[in-house]
Amino acid sequence: MPSNDVDVVVVGAGVSGLCCAAHLLHEGLTPTLIAETPEVGWALRSANLGKSSKGFVQHPMMQQNLGGGSWFNAARIVNADVTYHIGPALHLLNKETGARAELKACPSASAILGVLAPLVPFPLDDMRSELERVLNLGLMMTWDEMAALQRTPLVQWVGEQGGNEVLTMIMCVLAANLTETTPAVAAEYVSVYGMMAMLRGLVSGEAVVTAPCPDPWEGLCVPLGKGLDASGCEVRRGSKVSQIIIENGRAVGVALENGDEVRARAVALAVGNPRIPALLDKVYDEVSGALDYAAELLGHDACTYSLLDRDASGLTNMTMVADAMGNNLAYLFPMNSIAPTSTEEGKWLMCAQAQFSKEAYAEIGGNDGAVKHLLDLQEELFPGFADATVELKTMTHKHHWLNPLTHGPKLPAQSADVPGLYFAGDGSAPIQGIGVEGAGQAGAIRARQIAADLRAS
Ligand SMILES: Cc1cc2nc3c(=O)[nH]c(=O)nc-3n(C[C@H](O)[C@H](O)[C@H](O)COP(=O)(O)OP(=O)(O)OC[C@H]3O[C@@H](n4cnc5c(N)ncnc54)[C@H](O)[C@@H]3O)c2cc1C
Repeated sequence: MPSNDVDVVVVGAGVSGLCCAAHLLHEGLTPTLIAETPEVGWALRSANLGKSSKGFVQHPMMQQNLGGGSWFNAARIVNADVTYHIGPALHLLNKETGARAELKACPSASAILGVLAPLVPFPLDDMRSELERVLNLGLMMTWDEMAALQRTPLVQWVGEQGGNEVLTMIMCVLAANLTETTPAVAAEYVSVYGMMAMLRGLVSGEAVVTAPCPDPWEGLCVPLGKGLDASGCEVRRGSKVSQIIIENGRAVGVALENGDEVRARAVALAVGNPRIPALLDKVYDEVSGALDYAAELLGHDACTYSLLDRDASGLTNMTMVADAMGNNLAYLFPMNSIAPTSTEEGKWLMCAQAQFSKEAYAEIGGNDGAVKHLLDLQEELFPGFADATVELKTMTHKHHWLNPLTHGPKLPAQSADVPGLYFAGDGSAPIQGIGVEGAGQAGAIRARQIAADLRAS
């Protein structure tokens, strides 16, 4: 089929674009997927260390309550050769007290508080039954009901359920640790959906943390791309979209930087928020609100990847580290244990990750300070860690991953200003799931909507 005669052109080949294209195929449509990079899924490449070790901090959720979820089903749709390890339970470590808790799967509020209590800087006794009551309201919702609360602040909702200030504060401490931020940031930004999706995914065991083999790029994105190639979806690698073509007010395709055009009945944008304005003829109000908000939230993350010649940490599980006030300090990923195929024989690999708001990043000393924070923390927790490190790689970048968990404006699923234009990236709503799965769900949900709209037209 010539590329100027497809049903849908999907721009951006991250997980959201890959899943959108696969689910469009499932709906019986013909998509073309545009990847500006030499291969799809570029953002999910690992840090390569030693002979063959691969460090990564993206551990996609497999959402069994959503029938496996977006990427899991995309792999089935295009028969992609995807395999993954299922991560063991998340652990909590309170740096000051040394208190550790294993997050066993906790379906109920009572069970959740049993394992999360070490995070809260004071005894829960008086508040416990009230806290359980409010938590239970969130646990009893369907995922659709939760998704409908994507624009509702957690703090507002807790108040509406009769929660007082202390209870609200405790919920924010829990939300902060689940979303890798501080209670203050959680209080200001986190939505009911953000808190409950993380809680139910990570703590209630409604989703499974995975580690694709050997990593999310080679083990998930690249096979999905190959599966799309083999299933009748043209994947244009190394092609950058310069502009969405709008004719008579309607999106009718995209212009590529190399001068080609791809004409389609609908255009799905699965690019990161900051890339959107350059693709439009002007920034529409429906877009600017979401982009301004996302820019306000733009933080930084820092990651260290340490290849070790001995088991310096003794950790076996993904572990979130908090301070005495309940602030999240880092997530630690003992890769040799949670993703055995990522680490070469005779070595241990530890990845550490911390997220910072703009202000916190400046305060800690930018890139260098953030990396130092992570290395110092690991040395403090595991004396001898630096000495055991035979290779170190670091990464710092701006990130938007908190954005879908917040209550601020989101990109609409479908543009009201430009018929035929859909937003399918993780900055759009509605989504379900979180992180990589949230991005994939944005793509999959949009694919179903586009199919319904095209069938009706
Ligand atoms: C440090 C970090 C840690 C994370 N950890 C986790 C985790 O543990 N678990 C988890 O589930 N999630 C995690 N996430 C979140 C997850 O990685 C993202 O939510 C997800 O990858 C976003 O996918 P996406 O497809 O929406 O965006 P992207 O992966 O950014 O894809 C967008 C694509 O669009 C392309 N593009 C942009 N403009 C154009 C153009 N003009 N023409 C063609 N192509 C274009 C880009 O090249 C890019 O490939 C993490 C994120 C970060 C930053």
